[in-house]
Amino acid sequence: VLDVRGVRKQFDDHEVLRGVDLSVNQHEVVVLIGASGSGKSTLLRTINLIERVDDGQILLNGDDITDPGMNADSARSRIGVVFQHFNLFPHLRVIDNITLAAREVHGMSKADATERAMKLLVSLGLGDKARDYPDRLSGGQQQRVAIIRAVLTDPELLLLDEITSALDPQLVGEVLDLVRRLKTDGSTILMATHEMSFAREVADRIVFMQGGRIVEQGTPAQIFDSPQEPETVQFLSRVR
Ligand code: ATP
Ligand code: MG
Repeated sequence: VLDVRGVRKQFDDHEVLRGVDLSVNQHEVVVLIGASGSGKSTLLRTINLIERVDDGQILLNGDDITDPGMNADSARSRIGVVFQHFNLFPHLRVIDNITLAAREVHGMSKADATERAMKLLVSLGLGDKARDYPDRLSGGQQQRVAIIRAVLTDPELLLLDEITSALDPQLVGEVLDLVRRLKTDGSTILMATHEMSFAREVADRIVFMQGGRIVEQGTPAQIFDSPQEPETVQFLSRVR
């Protein structure tokens, strides 16, 4: 689904991504771990074309989305994104937050979009929130709404960046439950997280980044139980 090839990104004279190669296969859940500043968010932002790459290519199901001739909006519309801070529109009701892009960018009819959104809301116990404004919802509810919005049009790839790190601990579980469900339903997910126990449980593959490079990757058991690189060992000893 995703093929990142030799991606480099520099801010001023600071090289934040130093040649990243990464692929994500269909239905795979790949989790990025690494210290603060290692480049996880920047990598996700280049994939969503929020940041332009200085070098390298990013292929989405074979299409080079970093090609200057590629329409960035159409590429972006194929990817669902959720960030740390719920970026719901405060002036729109939950149902309109969820369906806006589906209708305006994907041309889904209002009836279809609303029906899909309500199905998801109801199945997550949020059916009675559809007509509320976001500030009436808890952080965990808002973040689940943001996830529903991101998956409403069945994106080819879902990018999740620290989606639980702004939440009170008691609200983290309900968001992680939803990610588990997306995995079961066959979504293709690339996520960055500091939640190591969740990473271990949900990931098909763990990718450890440091200093803008992928140092090591493997199954959760390989990375957490028998890391091969000294940097990985050191990082894990600090976070556990
Ligand atoms: P965290 O775990 O804290 O989320 P991260 O691995 O996501 O960290 P990034 O946010 O990708 O790290 O940041 C990598 C480096 O790039 C940092 O040194 C950061 O200061 C720098 N950086 C990120 N965005 C910009 C920007 N727009 N301008 C300048 N420097 C930036
Ligand atoms: Mg980050």
